[in-house]
Amino acid sequence: MASKTANNGKNVLISINPATLEVLGEIPMKTPQEVKEAVRGADRAFDGWAGLGVAERGRYLLKVRDYLLEHVDAYCDVISKENGKPRLEALSAELFLVTDLITYYVKRAPELLKDRPISLHNPIFKATKSSKLVYEPLGVMAVVSPWNYPFAIPMSGILFSLLAGNTVLFKPASDTAMIGLKIDEALNKGAGLPEGVFTTIIASGRAMGTALFEPPVRKVIFTGSTDVGKKINAICAKNLIPTVMELGGKDPMVVCEDADLELASRGAVWGAFMNCGQVCASIERVYVARPIYDRFVELCVEKTKALRVGQDLDHEVDIGPLANEEQLGIVEAHIRDALEKGARILTGGKRIQGLQGYFWEPTILVDVNHTMDCMTEETFGPTLPIMPFDSEDEAVRLANDSVFGLTASVWTKDPAKGDAIARRLQGGTVTVNDHAYTYGVCETPWQGMKESGIGRSHSDAGLMEMVFPKHVNTDHSLGFMKRRMWWYPYSSAAYEVQKMAFNAFVHAKAFPKFLLSVATRKDYRKTLY
Ligand code: NAD
Repeated sequence: MASKTANNGKNVLISINPATLEVLGEIPMKTPQEVKEAVRGADRAFDGWAGLGVAERGRYLLKVRDYLLEHVDAYCDVISKENGKPRLEALSAELFLVTDLITYYVKRAPELLKDRPISLHNPIFKATKSSKLVYEPLGVMAVVSPWNYPFAIPMSGILFSLLAGNTVLFKPASDTAMIGLKIDEALNKGAGLPEGVFTTIIASGRAMGTALFEPPVRKVIFTGSTDVGKKINAICAKNLIPTVMELGGKDPMVVCEDADLELASRGAVWGAFMNCGQVCASIERVYVARPIYDRFVELCVEKTKALRVGQDLDHEVDIGPLANEEQLGIVEAHIRDALEKGARILTGGKRIQGLQGYFWEPTILVDVNHTMDCMTEETFGPTLPIMPFDSEDEAVRLANDSVFGLTASVWTKDPAKGDAIARRLQGGTVTVNDHAYTYGVCETPWQGMKESGIGRSHSDAGLMEMVFPKHVNTDHSLGFMKRRMWWYPYSSAAYEVQKMAFNAFVHAKAFPKFLLSVATRKDYRKTLY
């Protein structure tokens, strides 16, 4: 991504195809003042949208889904062109996920957002009061998203926010602003959302001001790097604005001695290199039981050498380019650091010559350890460092030796062992004999431990992030008593009666004694009516 000032004085983002470095277009950016106006517009639209009710809002979202289904090839094309991933990945990991999420949650949301009675155990409250949770939309939401899944990631936050009755300001990553505009097209043109309900903010994160993180914005759904997440969280904290933070990862794969090596090596190669390794839940480091280490490495090298890297013109490509020059620089630096500290490259290791774009050979590194950046910092590129371990305890210790905790996987033919190790690994999701794919399962939560995030997206928990569970409590004594037991006037009689009440709540058999005391203490009783 680059930016410049156009002839009309407006700053524009220059969208680039990372496979060819060809300019795809120039997109005007919003000024901080325009961002503020967009926030006010979203605030004005809120009451009307919230008032529609979940069923009507769901009908709008079904129109989004149908628009996407009608234009699926055009969406896969633009995602592939601006982001670099093969169209098959755009289809399976971006479009499918979104249409499935809409279908499932439009049906499910009315049940989840229904008022929920709270059963009260205290006999006095049970007899005279009722309580319930009423799930109210929060108001204006800001969805800020990264470039690596430029369609699926923002869409899940946007769709849940809208379904719950919020209005949304959406800031796509600067590297994928065109895809951001395609999202805008599906919602505003495809579904015809009322004005102000959904607004796309094309802007540079650093220069757009802080209006997306201040009232009347009520919650921020951020996905991106841990560094930027911490900065945004700090601004939100000043304004007491809650956030969902889906941040970086350094996901480990643990391969036990009894693993199916063919399955595990295929899983490792896909998990490390899909989307050119630019996945928050990429397999970024592998720990393998020493007796099977050599064979596992051999299988991974064989499979990696067979991968086809290039621009997706005819679908016959497995890996596209890195998304931008900065990312290429990080991959290069991590490999250089590893080599300087004694690692060896078994395949890959350099930029692909003869191709204009940001293409990097898928790379397998061995003789690695935790002094190396490739084992401790997020690489976010096509590298697969593999290290042996001698005991399960050592594997768990190495896997958990990270500031991150997004996902992890364990590979074994023994489900009980898989479950036992999964419980010990620190990650928001741990998969046994698979990796990362649960991002595409809309019923399961996506979440990070440690510096990988706060809160949840996807699943029922992700939808409930978008509402406020207001508590409504109603008295049903209908004027029978003119005051509650705990109101004025205070007196020694009131003190004695309340003491008995406390006893009665703890020991049911003390209840008659308490009722008797109320009935016989006339001095107290007369204060109640
Ligand atoms: P990034 O943090 O650089 O940018 C994310 C978004 O924040 C972009 O829209 C960007 O324009 C905006 N931004 C950047 N600086 C800003 C600032 N100072 N103020 C306001 N907004 C700002 O992340 P990225 O490079 O786009 O994405 C890669 C990162 O995202 C990786 O660390 C990856 O692990 C993480 N990620 C996490 C998940 C997850 O679910 N946990 C998913 C995808 C990506």
